[in-house]
Parts: sequence; C-alpha cells; structure tokens
Amino acid sequence: MSYQVFDNGDDEKYFRWMEQHLDGFILNVERVSKSLPVVLHCSNCGHIRRGLAEGAFTGRDQIKIAAFVVDELIRWRNKYRPDATVKYCSDCKPAKSVLEQFLFYPDELDSQVELDSRAELWEGAKVQVLVNQYERNAQARQRGIAQYGTRCLVCELDFVERYGPIGEGFIHVHHIKPLASINAGYQVDPINDLRPVCPNCHAMLHRGKEQPLTIEELRALLKR
Ligand SMILES: [Zn+2]
Ligand SMILES: [Zn+2]
Ligand SMILES: [Zn+2]
Repeated sequence: MSYQVFDNGDDEKYFRWMEQHLDGFILNVERVSKSLPVVLHCSNCGHIRRGLAEGAFTGRDQIKIAAFVVDELIRWRNKYRPDATVKYCSDCKPAKSVLEQFLFYPDELDSQVELDSRAELWEGAKVQVLVNQYERNAQARQRGIAQYGTRCLVCELDFVERYGPIGEGFIHVHHIKPLASINAGYQVDPINDLRPVCPNCHAMLHRGKEQPLTIEELRALLKR
C-alpha cells in the first residue's frame, strides 16, 4: 500500500480516488511553502470536495496526497514536509477514524516509532495511544496471560479451540486502568491492569462513548 499524489490540475483523478476510497484520507498540502501546516481530512469530507473552478484543488496553491492508510501520509509528511505541523480537520475528525483504524487491531502496528509519531500528531489521542503501548508491552503481556490464560474474558473464545494449532498463544490484551489515573510515573501492573480479550471483544470494548466499556459491561451486552 502507498500514497498517491494529485498535482497539476488533476482534479478529475483526485475526485475519482475519493469516490473509490471513501474510508481513505487526504492530506492537504501547500505546494510551495514547506512550513505551512498540512491538514488531514477523511476522504468523504465536504471541505475538500466543494466544487470550485477547474483545477482549483490540485492545480493552484495546493496538492493532495491520498492514502487508504494514514501511516502512508505520515510517512510522506515526515519525508517532504518535516517542518510542517499536521492539523486535522475539525469537521470530519480524521483523528477519530485513525484511532478506530488502529485501536481495533493494536497488534497490527509495525513499530514503536510509528506509535510515537502518531502520539505526536494526534494530540487528542495521546492518552489512548499510551494505553495501547501498555497493551503491547511484551513482558507485561506475558505476565497477564500467565495469570489469566488466553481465553477471551468477555465471550470465552479460545483460539486453539476455534482454529486449532494456528491459534496457539494468540490473544489481545486490554488495559482496564481508568485513563485519569495514569500519569508519567505509571508502571503497568499486568495482574491488575491487563485482561485477555479476543480482537472482536477488544474492538467492542473500545466503542464505549467516553471511555472503554468494562469487561463486565460488555459481558452483559453479549447476546447468548
Ligand atoms: Zn475534513
Ligand atoms: Zn471475545
Ligand atoms: Zn484495549
């Protein structure tokens, strides 16, 4: 996967890309200035598709960088506009979509570096990123699993029972400590703070409006 650059009045291709990638992201970039902020939008945001004159989107002062995964845009920005602040559109709230993309599958993140660059970019998401770092801390994870096993505490799915040997040792861990009680000196306590859950239940836990649901709350919602 990679990003696509729309430049030189290529509005038609740009609009087509957005139609075909409604879940994607667009980075709005000044063509000349290397230091003016770049603005991230969701691909379906009204701000970046309002009809202006021909070539207005990709032909004058701005170019559009498009990608299905926001990491690609961060990579682009780090390479070509390292001095530009990243802002995100307050209308389409791309930070929320980004969070959803990676919160649901925190184990898919490739590296710590990635997490750090996101933490920097998504101010509002910082605390949540922190929590996911705890969820990904390998040692704490192992100790949590040693205590609770690898069966989902919400739906009781066991990956070996369901998928056979390929499921051996697979489980997500969820961090249950309230965000407000986490400060700089905080050390993860695997027994008190971490709980094994399957990726589906993990995703549902994080759909809680203000903060994640508790294990008990989600268990109560579970149909049979
Ligand atoms: Zn927007
Ligand atoms: Zn589950
Ligand atoms: Zn979690």
